[in-house]
Amino acid sequence: MNMMTHGGSCGHSCCLRMQNLSVKIGNDVIVEDVNLHVHCGEMVALIGPNGAGKSTLVKAILGQLPYEGVISFSVPGQRNRKLKIGYVPQSPAFDAGDCVSVADLFACCMSKRPAFLGHTKAMREKITMCLERVRSEGLIDKRIGTLSGGELQRVLLALALEPLPNLLILDEPLSGVDVEGMETLMEMLDEIRQTYDLSILMITHDFTMLSRYADQVLLLDGRPVCQGTPFEVLNSEAFRRVFHRKGGSL
Ligand code: ADP
Ligand code: MG
Repeated sequence: MNMMTHGGSCGHSCCLRMQNLSVKIGNDVIVEDVNLHVHCGEMVALIGPNGAGKSTLVKAILGQLPYEGVISFSVPGQRNRKLKIGYVPQSPAFDAGDCVSVADLFACCMSKRPAFLGHTKAMREKITMCLERVRSEGLIDKRIGTLSGGELQRVLLALALEPLPNLLILDEPLSGVDVEGMETLMEMLDEIRQTYDLSILMITHDFTMLSRYADQVLLLDGRPVCQGTPFEVLNSEAFRRVFHRKGGSL
């Protein structure tokens, strides 16, 4: 794995930079030739059909898969500091009958104390503070398996925000969330990005949100097939070809 600190010709300060990135699984090249700069404070959307390699690319960024090429990170004003990444995975499944509560989930991620011993007052306060970031403190004692799609996404987002990352990566956070929930989540992500000055890389199939929230869009289909502003990508020939859509206004 090749990581280096940022330095170079990018006009803005880059939070995450991929150069000639390829990811193989076994002998299969899943993603190739990705060149992407995620600038500080930007929201970048990664779109593409199923099997395009979007989740694979994210796993390479997270260091969970080996890759060829360069992935470099930088924290503005903090040379040689490791970039902190918060990650919300693609639709994790929880059993409705499972008795794990939201507080239990946080506690087991944040401390070594077994959940059956209960949570200390300090831990409950910390969990409440984390949930307040996503305006979901009322969910603290709910069982994970009983949460709606939108509630679960907010809880997972709160988990990914502790400790506060420089880069937040979300893999299809809008799937399983109703239209109203989508709006709420996107508004919240936008607010979080500004409040905590972080960059966001989001995989999504919801193209209606792109124009309003994304600064850049990368359309991936094994390799980048179009890259630019939401307007440029959504109106491109490549977008029409990949999604078999007629031209139009998204
Ligand atoms: P997307 O997230 O864009 O839907 P993925 O990155 O999950 O796509 O998968 C891209 C391709 O890589 C698919 O063809 C998938 O079958 C393959 N793939 C993903 N993970 C593995 C794996 N662990 N082993 C073999 N093939 C995989
Ligand atoms: Mg995926």
